[in-house]
Amino acid sequence: MVTIMTSIPTATSTVNLPDFLPVLEPGWVWLVGAGPGDPGLLTLHALNGLSQADAVVFDALVDDRILALAPPAAELIHAGKRGGRPSPKQRAISERLIELARAGRKVVRLKGGDPFVFGRGGEEALDLVQAGIPFRVVPGITAGIGGLAYAGIPATHRDTNSAVTFLTGHGVTGEVPDGINWPAIAQGSPALIIYMALKHMPEISRRLIEGGRSPDEPTAIVCSAATENQSVIETTLAEAPSMAFNATPPAVIAIGDIVRLRPALDWLGALDGKGLVSDPLNARQEKQAV
Ligand code: SAH
Repeated sequence: MVTIMTSIPTATSTVNLPDFLPVLEPGWVWLVGAGPGDPGLLTLHALNGLSQADAVVFDALVDDRILALAPPAAELIHAGKRGGRPSPKQRAISERLIELARAGRKVVRLKGGDPFVFGRGGEEALDLVQAGIPFRVVPGITAGIGGLAYAGIPATHRDTNSAVTFLTGHGVTGEVPDGINWPAIAQGSPALIIYMALKHMPEISRRLIEGGRSPDEPTAIVCSAATENQSVIETTLAEAPSMAFNATPPAVIAIGDIVRLRPALDWLGALDGKGLVSDPLNARQEKQAV
């Protein structure tokens, strides 16, 4: 049985939170994943943390409706790295978190997607540990899983892949990251999900094809996934670089037969009247016939 204890007023309704959720104590930092966009993808822990925070340090990709879940008196501090604004250095963000915690604030560090997936959440957490600041990690739905789901692309599907690899297309130096064994990835992973890849798609596509991937491999570029501006470009691995050139970030790129499921699983498109194909892989009929 769930006992409803807390009531959080919002603009249009009252959200009730169950009492099994923890208290955000003064002097603590919660590293919270905000999900890929749609505020409905927040976890209960995220909502609970936001509702108690008096300082919210947030990234550029976080939706305003999520920030609006913090109490009106909470200080909202922008730590984003996009949108033409000056980018605070990573160390400066950690220092700000430490300063706020030492001042006895209840701090939510809100990051897009999941804090520990290509989000530098680990680095910030290590800085907190070093400074002796108590913290909690609230995982979020990562763009490479939840964002793709909003495009009708599953990260795994029994008929297409029993392994999936998440990659970043952008290393610390700004180039394609060192240390990726492209031939091994090309040959070993039937589905690839690449973050921050628009800029370096020419090199990524070339390396994968050189590593043995088919130039015709289905590829989807999913931009602003799970937001009102979501757009999906369906293409091939060989054509992906020119498509990526005209795409607007943020985008995740999916490569592999998982992309072939989109004509069936684009549930968001179906809400707009798009017809869905029932068996895009021709796998179900064959199975039923056996
Ligand atoms: N921690 C985040 C990733 C941060 S890196 C997560 O778990 O999702 C930033 C990259 O994430 C972007 O360049 C893009 O590749 C991806 N991304 C984040 N939000 C996205 C969205 N709504 N749609 C598509 N890609 C997104």
